[in-house]
Amino acid sequence: MKISHHFDDATLIAYSSGTLNKGMALLVESHLEMCENCMEQVQTSNRIGGDLLRQIQPVAMKSGSLDQVLSMLDDVEPEAPVVSRSHNAEVPASLVEYIGDDLDALDWKTMGMGVQQYDLKFGGAGAARLLRIQPGVSVPHHTHTGNELTLILRGSYSDEIGRFQVGDVADLDDQLEHQPIVDTEHECICLIATDSPLKFSGLMGKLVQPFIGL
Ligand SMILES: [Zn+2]
Repeated sequence: MKISHHFDDATLIAYSSGTLNKGMALLVESHLEMCENCMEQVQTSNRIGGDLLRQIQPVAMKSGSLDQVLSMLDDVEPEAPVVSRSHNAEVPASLVEYIGDDLDALDWKTMGMGVQQYDLKFGGAGAARLLRIQPGVSVPHHTHTGNELTLILRGSYSDEIGRFQVGDVADLDDQLEHQPIVDTEHECICLIATDSPLKFSGLMGKLVQPFIGL
């Protein structure tokens, strides 16, 4: 797999400091499974974080603090075992827990204009959804009120930035207005995670927005 589009440094730092919402963190983890380049950056950023922690001056704790922390640890459930790589390599292991390993078996909701959606329903934890777009379809022009991450799971599309194929991520902020067009050979399925809703520009965009619910 040749990956040509990666996350911004800011996104990777936010990931290692644990400030991304659930949907965005899941998307980052899914890409890290496929991308040594970003994985190395996260490890570097974790090391820097660790060094900073070590430089902090220790402070005396109240008596009984240690017992308190230890008793809190007793309540922590052991981590579930790491999901092994699914037999269907299309779905990253981090995602399998939420959507299973067969993209075609999902309960896709038709949005019209060649677009289907599957909502991961993370609610307040941050929106995450899969979009399935028919070959040759162009998604209406839109800008973003916040950050939007996209990870390609099947097929490919092109926009003002370039061509995005399986494993690539688009890391967009509110500066960019773009119009992705799916390549004509195959449908495109991508995972999209946002920290706020999309804002469509143009009449067509305003018309479909209520239906797509983006
Ligand atoms: Zn990467």
